[in-house]
Amino acid sequence: MRVLICGGGVIGASIAYFLSCRGAEAIVIERTGIACAASGKSGGFLALDWCDGSPLESLARRSFALHGSLPEMIGGDWGYRRLVTYGGFASAQGGGRRGRAANVVDWVSDDVVVDRRLGSTETTAQVHPREFTAAMMRAAEAQGAGLRLGQVTGIVRDGRGSRVGGVEVDGETIEGDAVVIAMGPWSILAAQWLSLPPVFGLKGHSLVFETGSKVPAEALFLEYQDASGEVHGPEVFPRTDGTTYVCAISSESPLPIDPAEVTPDPGAIDRLQAMCARLSSTLGGANVLARQACHRPVTQDGLPLIGQIPGLEGAYVATGHSVWGILNAPATGEAVSELILDGVSRSVDLAPFDPARLAPLDPARLRTNAERRP
Ligand SMILES: Cc1cc2nc3c(=O)[nH]c(=O)nc-3n(C[C@H](O)[C@H](O)[C@H](O)COP(=O)(O)OP(=O)(O)OC[C@H]3O[C@@H](n4cnc5c(N)ncnc54)[C@H](O)[C@@H]3O)c2cc1C
Repeated sequence: MRVLICGGGVIGASIAYFLSCRGAEAIVIERTGIACAASGKSGGFLALDWCDGSPLESLARRSFALHGSLPEMIGGDWGYRRLVTYGGFASAQGGGRRGRAANVVDWVSDDVVVDRRLGSTETTAQVHPREFTAAMMRAAEAQGAGLRLGQVTGIVRDGRGSRVGGVEVDGETIEGDAVVIAMGPWSILAAQWLSLPPVFGLKGHSLVFETGSKVPAEALFLEYQDASGEVHGPEVFPRTDGTTYVCAISSESPLPIDPAEVTPDPGAIDRLQAMCARLSSTLGGANVLARQACHRPVTQDGLPLIGQIPGLEGAYVATGHSVWGILNAPATGEAVSELILDGVSRSVDLAPFDPARLAPLDPARLRTNAERRP
């Protein structure tokens, strides 16, 4: 069984890993580089129970457990650790603590009020997402998977036209028994070839600071009101490698066709950096290692598309994981491998994520370079 996986983000790499555990031949076809997009530029925050009560609950719980066992299963260090998570607020106008008792989080400025504990070391954790994605791909390769750099430009059907025969990559056909579309927000391009609902890219900006040991293992989710009154939701994740990642400032800027052309919106990085300096003098004084932007894949109903694509045997999709793609990647990989190899996923019920629940995109509506969120 040869499975062609289009897209080398965290979802594609995780599917390749779990397929290779079962002895199937997985080939990941990646246009730019493993984890070059959101999978390398996201927060990497993980939560056991933040999806409870939603259709994501069992996927998230299974995935949180897999994240805990993967360091032993695969061997390696991608910055996985449990951490405590706090919530709070701040304003550019200052006056935050207003005489309150000292914050439990003491490395932030006096303008920040930390007033909630959102998670404990039992319920919240983190990985370095680029390192995690790369480790999953390496582990898959060690078990026989392949990585091919190239741009997927079409699906090839078998002689009768009802089954997948392979994919077109840079004008050449790669033959396979099954194909998985896992191109994150670029999965929308596959709606030209397959009956797929739309997937959109929602942009987020982030900075990576060199903070050494100055920031403890505490994640922060804040509400921040800037000088114009606009409210942002900065998320702060200190990492085991001595860096601290902060993301905020979303936009609906168009997704470029080429993942290598994603750049921050004009002014967004300066605004984010000013916000960080306000939140903590440690961040304000730290060297900035990365100024970046990426698009998370979102669907019309906010739930991922995971399952068989109607109309073509052997065609599958796994995308649209929105803000929980790093968390939910391992369980998605495991479930998709079961679906392809056994015909059904036993580890997680994929029914809520069936791509057939949403109307397919009319390919005539696919304006390259200008698709936006609904
Ligand atoms: C700012 C931000 C912070 C986030 N923080 C978190 C977090 O803390 N925790 C969490 O769980 N999730 C988080 N997420 C969400 C998470 O990053 C995404 O859901 C996840 O990375 C999506 O992975 P993916 O593999 O589906 O897509 P991507 O990472 O986008 O990968 C898709 C891949 O497909 C490739 N590709 C595109 N077109 C082609 C083509 N034609 N041929 C071949 N390859 C192609 C691209 O080059 C890319 O490598 C965050 C997202 C953002 C934007």
